[in-house]
Amino acid sequence: MLNLVLFGPPGAGKGTQALKIAEKYRLLHISTGDILRAEIAKSSPLGLRVKSIIDRGELVSDDILVDILRGVIEDHREVKGFIFDGFPRTIPQAEALKVMLKGEGQQVTGVVSLKVNDEELIKRLLNRALETGRSDDNEEVIRKRLQVYNSSTKPLLDYYREEGILNEVVGIGPIDVIFQDICTVIDKF
Ligand code: AMP
Repeated sequence: MLNLVLFGPPGAGKGTQALKIAEKYRLLHISTGDILRAEIAKSSPLGLRVKSIIDRGELVSDDILVDILRGVIEDHREVKGFIFDGFPRTIPQAEALKVMLKGEGQQVTGVVSLKVNDEELIKRLLNRALETGRSDDNEEVIRKRLQVYNSSTKPLLDYYREEGILNEVVGIGPIDVIFQDICTVIDKF
């Protein structure tokens, strides 16, 4: 299996690139943000629980995320691999992912980290706020999400660097050029 983690701050272009990677390498795209937004749209018990957390730009608890991921992985034993987009976002989530994949005789093959500076991220997220109806795309929540990224998620860069599977790709420029750079990294895994 080819199991990829697409890593980066909010606004780095993970969603856009994950779709292209999933299509080219025939992987199952798992976007935890999309899964949670779908639960909110259905007004499911889970959706009702997480809505205010997401609207504040905070992280949903590790337990909830790990349960979601476990379900998805167990339901898709037939796939060629996964592309994880927006997960893991904390060290405990990364540890849990490792254990879950190990239980299936698998592992994270590689991590691709999209590098984009804060100024560009804020510009992109404010533009997206105008284009999408996402309730967490407004200036105050955007700043909060970047703060949460820096404190809780960024430490994963060192975690995966120590595991020897971190690869950084510049996330600024034309979408297809960035995609080519990502493919060059993946093709070496
Ligand atoms: P995203 O679409 O990936 O930017 O996710 C939108 C929001 O969903 C985040 O700001 C978090 O509130 C929540 N979320 C998504 N993935 C995770 C995760 N792995 N851990 C905790 N919260 C998450």
